[in-house]
Amino acid sequence: MKRTKIIELLQRTDYGTQVTVCGWVRTRRGSKAVNFIALNDGSTIKNVQIVADVERFDEELLKQVTTGACLRVTGTLVESQGAGQASEIQATEIEVLGTCGADYPMQKKGQSFEYMRQHGHLRLRTNTFGAIMRIRHQMAYAIHTYFHKHGYYYFHTPLITASDCEGAGQMFQVTTKNLYDLKKNADGKIDYSDDFFGKQTSLTVSGQLEGELGATALGAIYTFGPTFRAENSNTPRHLAEFWMIEPEVAFIDLEELEDIEEDFIKYCVRWALDHCQDDLEFLNKMIDKSLIERLRSVCDTEFVRLDYTEGIRILEEAVAKGEKFEFPVSWGMDLASEHERYLVERHFNKPVIMSGYPKEIKAFYMKMNADGKTVQGTDVLFPQIGEIIGGSVREEDYDKLMEQIKERDIPMKDMWWYLDTRRFGSCPHGGFGLGFERLILFVTGMQNIRDVIPFPRTPKTAEF
Ligand code: ATP
Ligand code: MN
Repeated sequence: MKRTKIIELLQRTDYGTQVTVCGWVRTRRGSKAVNFIALNDGSTIKNVQIVADVERFDEELLKQVTTGACLRVTGTLVESQGAGQASEIQATEIEVLGTCGADYPMQKKGQSFEYMRQHGHLRLRTNTFGAIMRIRHQMAYAIHTYFHKHGYYYFHTPLITASDCEGAGQMFQVTTKNLYDLKKNADGKIDYSDDFFGKQTSLTVSGQLEGELGATALGAIYTFGPTFRAENSNTPRHLAEFWMIEPEVAFIDLEELEDIEEDFIKYCVRWALDHCQDDLEFLNKMIDKSLIERLRSVCDTEFVRLDYTEGIRILEEAVAKGEKFEFPVSWGMDLASEHERYLVERHFNKPVIMSGYPKEIKAFYMKMNADGKTVQGTDVLFPQIGEIIGGSVREEDYDKLMEQIKERDIPMKDMWWYLDTRRFGSCPHGGFGLGFERLILFVTGMQNIRDVIPFPRTPKTAEF
């Protein structure tokens, strides 16, 4: 008989029907006469209860029904006698598809997240990681749905790139050269002419520059793909390989860009509340008691729009009143996560969209304000997370863009194609990057970014 997924089974009330379910044993308990098996198949956080009358089954078979074992069970769907579930299965056949010994690492409840990371290949079988991965899927679906509904095209930018001017982070090199025997030129520098691409190449830190080519042809695009940064920052918010969503839109100004940022992120959080109820309730109970309330509040409040200069003034005032920050506050500095979180969690108590940053701390492509000192960068700062989105209106004026490139000594020799967007029919445009895992951190209430991606890549870890 074809198996029924547990999520569907638990909705059914056609008691008396024969059904088959497959899944992994969470627990088995019982008396001499009857065993109760909690079975989970990953389709929902909920288990189905299997009732097995001991006399109907071989003793040796029931001994194999241990935590983690994989079963196929056929039986009758019945209304449950016990509390906690509406229906259960009175088993007539139990087949052990895969036994699971006492050395199964996910046996005990309440293991630390660090322990789980060491067993990352099996942690997916736990309630918490099941919930996180289902939410991750829902968020990816929400993102595609949002952009599709709003007329953006999903645009695929390359992962291997020859441009090294983005400056967003250290890059991983891509090469087929024999690292034990590198060909060098007269100056002792590596000669890449015989490398696979005939020049130095790396994994991308952002699809933005190519995204701008898409937006200035198609009007509005978004990317959603892996991104790589070899930044040696061992923090709970950085991965070496993460997924980024980068919409890029023609004919918008700063205010419209900020409106999109706010509308988009609220849509995603609302989607989670509407489509991930069971998993969110579980996480709210087990991980963070204020999670659902925080998600609701983000959907219901208007984000603060804050000028960088005003933000610095607020932080300076806080310092004057005795607030202690690890990093000193002054105009011109890049905000650290502690500053971002002070503004969001303590001062405003809502998400903040900050803009008008000093040009020195932002990338070369951001549009210059009339003061010649600040640029139209816009970061969205979130409770618990800090920066969740980084974006900007792009400089569309060729001369002004070149001025910044020269001022910063940016190697543009391989970037002629990017500059062509400003030479041929240049247009006002802007966009942003959302770190997918930072969104998942926020939506799940998890604390460490390593725990919201199936197989995290961080300095010194590339296991599984
Ligand atoms: P941060 O200051 O937090 O390192 P950033 O300023 O380097 O971030 P951007 O280059 O603007 O970030 O990238 C856009 C978005 O990508 C960020 O807002 C964040 O959500 C996400 N992001 C950046 N770096 C990482 C990383 N190493 N791991 C996971 N997400 C990241
Ligand atoms: Mn960074």
